Amino acid sequence: MTGDFSPLVAALDRWAGAGRQARFWLRDDDAVAPTPALDRLLALGAGHGVPLTLAVIPQPTGQALADRLEGLDVEVALHGWSHADHAAQGRKSCELGPERPAPVVLAELATGLAQLRRLHGARAVPVLVPPWNRIDPALIQQLAALGFRGLSVFGPEAEGAPVRINAHVDLIDWRGHRGARDTAALVADLVARLDAVQGSGAHVGFMTHHLVHDAAAWGFMDRLFALTVPHAGCRWTGLSSLLAPDQGRIN
Ligand SMILES: [Zn+2]
Repeated sequence: MTGDFSPLVAALDRWAGAGRQARFWLRDDDAVAPTPALDRLLALGAGHGVPLTLAVIPQPTGQALADRLEGLDVEVALHGWSHADHAAQGRKSCELGPERPAPVVLAELATGLAQLRRLHGARAVPVLVPPWNRIDPALIQQLAALGFRGLSVFGPEAEGAPVRINAHVDLIDWRGHRGARDTAALVADLVARLDAVQGSGAHVGFMTHHLVHDAAAWGFMDRLFALTVPHAGCRWTGLSSLLAPDQGRIN
């Protein structure tokens, strides 16, 4: 694929020149079971030495995914319960909204977290990734009691508990052709986030959806990894290390 990555290189050069290292993490949503697309994602991550975080839908997932991830540098987070849309007609899609009683929603999340821990053991990181990146604010304060240590939605992090570990750059053009967004727009988003967080200790979250990737999406990831992995101005990290922000922070 074509596309100019030079603004990203220049931004990372600025980080490296300041003696800093930006932390990137990759959040890939909607995994349930092994598929050819998942194989491609896992191969891409392993080939470049990039740790991956899969936001796994707990209700339909099972042992096959756990077996597939064995021995890989992959962590899993909880992607809702069944990725069902309970929003009222005409409202934006949402599983964890106010339409249902909170105890019902929270019980699903507790069951889901137990399911991921049973299947994935130490690979399961107690971070909730709400489907469609939406959650009723009233539910958030209940998450710690269920054992969640983090919440990951899209955009700048809000203050408060549990700690927010968001994604900030979305690979996919959802409103258009549902393939990769334009390279220049993706690079611009990455640079904007890098510039916004320099010196703050915050990270850059890159969001992918392996089940819908077109050739351009895979191509963008390959180029992004090839460019960033060897660069002194950044490093890719797993989700669990972002939960312990004082460990190894050098930005
Ligand atoms: Zn999803």
